Amino acid sequence: NKQVIFRDYVSGFPKESDMYMTTSTISLKVPEGSKAVVVKNLYLSCDPYMRPRMSYTTDSYIHSFKPGSVISGYGVAKVLDSGHPNFSKGDLVWGFTGWEEYTLITAPESLFKIPNNDVPLSYYIGILGMPGITAYAGFYEICSPKKGEYVYVSAASGAVGQLVGQFAKLIGCYVVGSAGSKEKVDLLKNKFGFDEAFNYKEEQDLVACLKRYFPEGIDIYFENVGGPMLDAVLANMRVQGRIAACGMISQYNLDKPVGVYNLMNIIKKQIKMQGFVAGSYFHLYPKFLEMILPHVKEGKVVYVEDIAEGLESAPQALIGLFSGRNVGKQVVLVARE
Ligand code: NDP
Repeated sequence: NKQVIFRDYVSGFPKESDMYMTTSTISLKVPEGSKAVVVKNLYLSCDPYMRPRMSYTTDSYIHSFKPGSVISGYGVAKVLDSGHPNFSKGDLVWGFTGWEEYTLITAPESLFKIPNNDVPLSYYIGILGMPGITAYAGFYEICSPKKGEYVYVSAASGAVGQLVGQFAKLIGCYVVGSAGSKEKVDLLKNKFGFDEAFNYKEEQDLVACLKRYFPEGIDIYFENVGGPMLDAVLANMRVQGRIAACGMISQYNLDKPVGVYNLMNIIKKQIKMQGFVAGSYFHLYPKFLEMILPHVKEGKVVYVEDIAEGLESAPQALIGLFSGRNVGKQVVLVARE
């Protein structure tokens, strides 16, 4: 059983060498009398929240990785053996698994069964998985969007952002996205249907830049990056605007958070800013699937993935998120079904 092991707590930017490959043996049979399942991992998800898990912390909504242990995260897998009444051999599932070829999952209740339908399996760690629910809950539940409103999305070409932009267009908002390369900006405009997009790395003055794209101000900001971008957004928000604080990736590798001075605008402009974590919205999953699946099948909502091949490529794929190397949702293909 090939595995990716977490070496030790990280400070600053993570490196490939913070993880290493090893091999162990694993029984492909569930222990007698246990309610566990044994799965073969097919796709693994690289997600930004995995960086905070690489630091030692006790005050997060999710525990740190343990040095010397297998990295864990979302994945799509096939059940090889099951002691649990809800799962049978051959079932396809998505949920929390290990960065290894095979995993013994002792609490399979948290896994979702993948219905038999004709969409790519990898979508269950992207548009039909955690990032999908994040975009859905963050945009519809937290931002209370209305037709015609002005929406801004940062890290807009990524796993979550590309969906938020498309959801905003579905209900008739004006939406602008930012991303870190020309290729990504082109995707935003030509593939995902954003009204406008810009490369934030080319902008000297973010306040003036946002003023250019939103002369009347921003009603809704879907926050993925934090820091100076959040500060510039606060200066450009409209009265009674909403901010869904989804993530702040620009801060994850810093010892001390930087760059936000305009917080008084929250009061002056009566802005509602709410943080949220996807895990608190998984009860909406059936409702979300009902909404998204027809859109996906009809091509009304599209999804771009960046697929790295082989378990060995997982460490490099994960750290690539923090320099923007991924174009779209970063997935690792471990094995085909
Ligand atoms: P992405 O697919 O968007 O990948 C991360 C992207 O972030 C990179 O491609 C890069 O794109 C951008 N980025 C990296 N470093 C910086 C930086 N210093 N400043 C600005 N942008 C940067 O990831 P996701 O869509 O999965 O996640 C997006 C955000 O949503 C993250 O903050 C994540 O933590 C958060 N999140 C929160 C969840 C929740 O439950 N609250 C659930 C899922 C995600 P670029 O080239 O454009 O710079």
